[in-house]
Amino acid sequence: MGEIIFWTLIRMAVLMPLVWAAQPYMNYATWWTCGIASLYAGILHPAIIHYRWYLEKNKNVLDASLCSSCRYFDRTAVLCLLHDSHPTSEFLPCDGLDWQPGTSVSITKEADE
Ligand code: SF4
Repeated sequence: MGEIIFWTLIRMAVLMPLVWAAQPYMNYATWWTCGIASLYAGILHPAIIHYRWYLEKNKNVLDASLCSSCRYFDRTAVLCLLHDSHPTSEFLPCDGLDWQPGTSVSITKEADE
């Protein structure tokens, strides 16, 4: 997930100055239309595609692994919060020994309660 955000920010940092620099070369209405279209095509659409690819790549871990029903599993990052490691369909950081039932709960939230 962090990779998606990182590359979205990089694309924003590159594209937004280019769109801004193009303003003097177009009339205002055309600049707005082209600006919105290029921001969608260059930033939003790639982020959506990347996120769908991320969900597809991690589908087995998110839906059908031991970690998916563990309280230490962070679904948004596909991360075991207890071992600070990314489980895969072939690799469980705890080998199932630390599994505890429950939905994904942040360790920091538990500590705060
Ligand atoms: S404690 Fe074990 S079962 Fe639970 S999320 Fe971490 S690796 Fe998966």
